[in-house]
Amino acid sequence: MTDYRAGQVEAVLDLRGWSAPIGGQDDLAALWTQLEPTLYGRPLRGGAVHSWDAEPGTVRLEILRVAPGVPVLAPDTRVDLVAVREPARLVHRCAACDRQGRSGYGVFRCRGCSDDGRPDLVCVDHAVLLDGALTPSCPDHHPRCQECGDHADFWCAGTGCRTRRSWCGRHRTSHPQDPDTDYCPGCYRLAFPVCEEGGCASVGTVTCDWADHAGRPCGRQACTRHARRWQVFGAERVGLGLCRAHSAVVGLPADRLLHQICVGATRKPGVRMPSLQAFGHNLRNCGHRELAVDYRAIRGVLDGLRGRVGPAMERATAGWDRELGELRGRAAEGEQILLALQQLLLRQDPRWGAEIAAGLRLQEFKAARTGGPGGGRPALLWVHLPADLQGRFIGPQGSRIRSYSEQLGVDIRLADGNRRGRR
Ligand SMILES: [Zn+2]
Ligand SMILES: [Zn+2]
Ligand SMILES: [Zn+2]
Ligand SMILES: [Zn+2]
Ligand SMILES: [Zn+2]
Ligand SMILES: [Zn+2]
Repeated sequence: MTDYRAGQVEAVLDLRGWSAPIGGQDDLAALWTQLEPTLYGRPLRGGAVHSWDAEPGTVRLEILRVAPGVPVLAPDTRVDLVAVREPARLVHRCAACDRQGRSGYGVFRCRGCSDDGRPDLVCVDHAVLLDGALTPSCPDHHPRCQECGDHADFWCAGTGCRTRRSWCGRHRTSHPQDPDTDYCPGCYRLAFPVCEEGGCASVGTVTCDWADHAGRPCGRQACTRHARRWQVFGAERVGLGLCRAHSAVVGLPADRLLHQICVGATRKPGVRMPSLQAFGHNLRNCGHRELAVDYRAIRGVLDGLRGRVGPAMERATAGWDRELGELRGRAAEGEQILLALQQLLLRQDPRWGAEIAAGLRLQEFKAARTGGPGGGRPALLWVHLPADLQGRFIGPQGSRIRSYSEQLGVDIRLADGNRRGRR
């Protein structure tokens, strides 16, 4: 070992390129013992720098001052190391680098390491970052695929995993439009279900809402081409989805139809329980023409469903009662207009007026509507009339029914068997 004190050469040892830790004087002496013979024969002159490359790094010797008569470094040359330059001490040391005898700056924290109670910092090079979420780990804690246990590649963005479960590349499917969002097989099926129709590869975006006896929806999914939207909540609201098996609603018993609509209304966000008239509209479209305008009877059917639908239905009953009162008032108004029509017939049609007047029966009166979506419309008077009298009541090219309508200020329509305004 070189005598530091009575040195013939003063030099600085530069360890900044040497990544092995130097713990103290013993480490330093051991390093010098390895280094010194490699420098024998090198010229000694102030300002010269000699370097030694080895694993792990480079050690440099900067010559500061040389005593006269010492041209080269020889085994008997006494070198005085006046300073040792060391790498800045890393406070944030990468644990993975440390395990490899290197030093790296830890910028991430590994959850697995901290859970194990060991140093948890990871450098940029050692950090394992999967697609889909910034959840770093060290190489030892590389997340595993939920399915096969391989090293995982991504965090699933689906509702079942919420970027907390990791999967490998073989179990990855990307969002059809967004390649940066990935799903595991289960979450993908949930987010993009395949249409129930055999041979159709489209996404089943429509879920069948048809409820069983306990109110559980059918749940089959079909694409917009193979599913049906049953527009029971008006044209502006999304109706009930129906799969192929449940799409035939025409002709079903009224109580089953109303049960479906009520259950659907309680489940669909932003949908209120329909009015009696809205139920009537749906019943008419499903073939229940008589019941469709008998609001008291509709109310009766709804009462029969009360135990099966739940509290939303209880809350709706007050509204239905109020509506029934208004409808009754309107029916009375309709009867008044019908009376006026019968009087017109008696006066203006001496030949058939009496017979037609006797055959007329009120189906429904609807007051005029102003504004609103689709604009206003005049008041409507729907009447029943035996088929053999309809042609005479209507008149050539509809002239008579049009004349009565103008005189009474309502649009008169035949409830059945009529070309104009058939329901
Ligand atoms: Zn590292
Ligand atoms: Zn770790
Ligand atoms: Zn998932
Ligand atoms: Zn896998
Ligand atoms: Zn389809
Ligand atoms: Zn269904």
